[in-house]
Amino acid sequence: MNNDQQTTNRPLFCVISGPSGSGKTTICREVATSLGWYYAVSHATRTKRENEVEGLDYLFISQEEFMTMVDQNEFLEWAKVYQNHYGTSKKVVKDRLDQGQSVIVDVDTQGALAIKKIMPEAILIFIKTKDIEELERRLKARGRDTEEEIQKRLEQTQEELKKVSKYDHSVINDDLNTTIEEIKNILLEYVT
Ligand code: ADP
Ligand code: 5GP
Repeated sequence: MNNDQQTTNRPLFCVISGPSGSGKTTICREVATSLGWYYAVSHATRTKRENEVEGLDYLFISQEEFMTMVDQNEFLEWAKVYQNHYGTSKKVVKDRLDQGQSVIVDVDTQGALAIKKIMPEAILIFIKTKDIEELERRLKARGRDTEEEIQKRLEQTQEELKKVSKYDHSVINDDLNTTIEEIKNILLEYVT
């Protein structure tokens, strides 16, 4: 494992966003493993798909449990995306950063911009595919969502792309290994 990042005393916080299917989850896992960072998975109220693993893809909770967490101010940010609620645990992120471990999260554009407001030091990276056809291919190949859900995600893409200028960096995820290297290089530039 390349542990370059852990040589710094200042842990970093990276927020990855981009259209559904652009490769955010894959990238977060690879970057976290490679740099020794913590990938903080979100809480979500949507139904767990067959090939998803509790705790690895999301912490799947009920709407009621989610709203209790909202009331108790347990989320760093939360948002309604595609009729479901998603949130990033404040405690999980804070504990890791306090322990000196850098953290990476995957949240939508609402979540990323909310985080940037309260944590201006957060590094925002937007992930794209080379075109919408490739996005559709990946969503279909992933085999996780229904055709209706895939169409909803493709429609939402145009809205998300409008926010790209608010990000610190944007990366086209064409060849995965090249993308991982590009993101690692971006992050290592922040190491002081
Ligand atoms: P997201 O989290 O953005 O919805 P995923 O990480 O689930 O996206 O990736 C969507 C699908 O695309 C997955 O099947 C994944 O294996 C695949 N994928 C990710 N990156 C690439 C890439 N660079 N080239 C081809 N397929 C990719
Ligand atoms: P999916 O259901 O396809 O896994 O995720 C749908 C969307 O929810 C994606 O855009 C993803 O980035 C976003 N998302 C996942 N977790 C969070 C979170 O904790 N907060 C916010 N705001 N969005 C999230």
